[in-house]
Amino acid sequence: MWNFDFVYPSMAVLFILLVYFFFRPMLPNRMNKAFLNLIFTDIATVLLDLASSMADENHTILPLPLVSVLNLLYFMAFLFRVLCFFHLTLALLKTDTRWSPLKKLFSCSVFLLSELTVLSSPLTGAVYTIDSLGYHRGPLYDILPVCSFFYLFVGICLLIRHRKKLRRGALVSAFAYHLILAAGNGARILFPQYLVMNFFCLLAILVIFLSFENPDLYITDRGPAFNTRAFTDWLDDPMHRRGSRVLGFAIRNYNDERSMYGGSQMDKGLRLIISFLVKQFPEFLLFYLRGGNFALTGPENADWNAVRSIISGRFQLPWQAESADMNLSVTYVEMGLTEQDVPSDGIISTLLYALDEAGSSTDTEQVLMPKEALKEIGRQIEIKRCLDRALDHDSLEVFLQPIYSGTTRAIHAAEALARLRDDDGRLIAPGMFIPLAEKNGRINRLGEQVLRRVCIFIKTHDIRAMGLHWINVNLSPLQCMQSSLPGSFSDILSEYGVPADLIHLEITEESMINYMKQARQMEKLLQCGFHLALDDYGSGFSNLHQVMEYPFSSIKLDMSIVWDYIRNRDPLLPALVRAFRQMGFTVTAEGIENREMEEAMAAIGCDYLQGYCYSVPLSMEAFAEKYSFSGDPQADFVPPQQESHTSGTI
Ligand code: C2E
Ligand code: MG
Ligand code: MG
Repeated sequence: MWNFDFVYPSMAVLFILLVYFFFRPMLPNRMNKAFLNLIFTDIATVLLDLASSMADENHTILPLPLVSVLNLLYFMAFLFRVLCFFHLTLALLKTDTRWSPLKKLFSCSVFLLSELTVLSSPLTGAVYTIDSLGYHRGPLYDILPVCSFFYLFVGICLLIRHRKKLRRGALVSAFAYHLILAAGNGARILFPQYLVMNFFCLLAILVIFLSFENPDLYITDRGPAFNTRAFTDWLDDPMHRRGSRVLGFAIRNYNDERSMYGGSQMDKGLRLIISFLVKQFPEFLLFYLRGGNFALTGPENADWNAVRSIISGRFQLPWQAESADMNLSVTYVEMGLTEQDVPSDGIISTLLYALDEAGSSTDTEQVLMPKEALKEIGRQIEIKRCLDRALDHDSLEVFLQPIYSGTTRAIHAAEALARLRDDDGRLIAPGMFIPLAEKNGRINRLGEQVLRRVCIFIKTHDIRAMGLHWINVNLSPLQCMQSSLPGSFSDILSEYGVPADLIHLEITEESMINYMKQARQMEKLLQCGFHLALDDYGSGFSNLHQVMEYPFSSIKLDMSIVWDYIRNRDPLLPALVRAFRQMGFTVTAEGIENREMEEAMAAIGCDYLQGYCYSVPLSMEAFAEKYSFSGDPQADFVPPQQESHTSGTI
């Protein structure tokens, strides 16, 4: 009566999956638990299907109550398997586990109703009956396919509703196993004598295994530690974060050590480290986040100091990989996870960022990360993202601040100042993103983009009519050290046909530390036709002697010494300005915020004046609009607060 052709191979494949799954490290997460439940339930269902079908065929020689019980158990397992698939979909979509009891009851209601109908069958004959002629379907037999289709339908609706939670490939796989199950139910109705449902369930399980459950997707190739994908998955579940803590640690100077010891030896070393940690801390979860970064998670109240000292103690000994001993050291970062409400990739990038920071400090002790520090790091990461986006999409903004003549009090030049916008459209101050651009090596692209914007402005506006004789462009210390700088800047000028003497490059005092290299670089810039100005003079680095050595044409006094002079009026600054002018430099005073400062600095001989007294930095459009009909020597006084809405930074 029954055909068992599909059952035996299904059983064999299920056992292989189970063995494979058990012998690899497994993350104790909801999805894995749901998958294990599914496999066990499927095995039980297949066995009961086999047993009940055989019992049906041999009902004449077996006691009828036994045949009935086997059928009852099979139908119950069949329905339970339907629910297991549904729970797996819920786990995949990471739906909230804290559903109200009413919602839970509602979601299980069809299942419970079906199970009750099955349970009542030995008495009522609702789903099946067993008599001396054997097995017969009951009038409510169709409750089984109805229940299956109901949960498949709800599953598909949930997939559509939460489709954004899954990557494209994962979504396709999820739809695929729903469709396979639907096809299985259809085939079961069309060919009732074949036990095909088990085969289709196996196909669905295989799709789930290959797409989501293959342990290799979550384990590093450096040993039995979980990878970043597993960490993201684990952090995604708020239940895991509650009451947990993570100890991040990184191999100091990992890249240098890797190139010193060689890749294959370092990989062996990493394997040794991972197996040491797994053996030493079996009750914690170990994640290897690449680049020599590890994360160990465990309960908040564990003795984390002891954990650290065990790790530090081991790292004081060499790691013997291949023929050499590797001496490595680590830095730590510790973070409580309970209070973190940022997405998991935010936590991971924060951790990696903090490890990177900790790695560059000389203090090997752990860095504890309170909430404020995390927020700050989160902000830094956001700024970095905005910066990358602005550089990639060529959308960095450049504002202009006028520089006035100290004698005519008319606009004479302007300084270009880079501006970045965050996701909410607020401006980010250069003090926050220039150091980041220097750190991740993007300062050259930033500088080139600023120069391009300035060239386009010069090309598209009659800057002479605005009263501008040149525009100042800032160079950061790192940018100055790039030997390709003079060439790339000249190329940009020729691309736009802008004469080099319209650009004055501002170099900060800080750049002057590497004297020899800087001198050569400046000579090249001069040969290209640029004028050079020393920015922020008086903020701490250069002395008068050094200044004379360099081919600057102009000195910009830092606003701190201008403000000091306004407060104390000691004779030093007037003497300095006089000396500079005698040496042939022109002098610009920065930070002129009111008429008193303007008068005082003009009186001691400053050639140019710059500050909020004249204008805050303005967007290029606003600047062009304001100064298009220049000739007005006294532009309106704009109080400093206005920067926050015209050109303000945060
Ligand atoms: P800086 O070159 O010394 O620029 C002058 C800074 O002082 C600007 O700040 C300007 O908004 C501000 N400022 C001007 N007048 C006044 C005033 O009267 N009172 C006060 N309190 N501040 C005034 P900003 O735009 O935030 O720039 C800060 C620094 O960032 C700049 O200092 C410069 O070193 C750097 N920077 C800006 N744009 C660029 C760029 O494109 N490339 C590089 N490498 N650095 C840049
Ligand atoms: Mg400047
Ligand atoms: Mg300055």
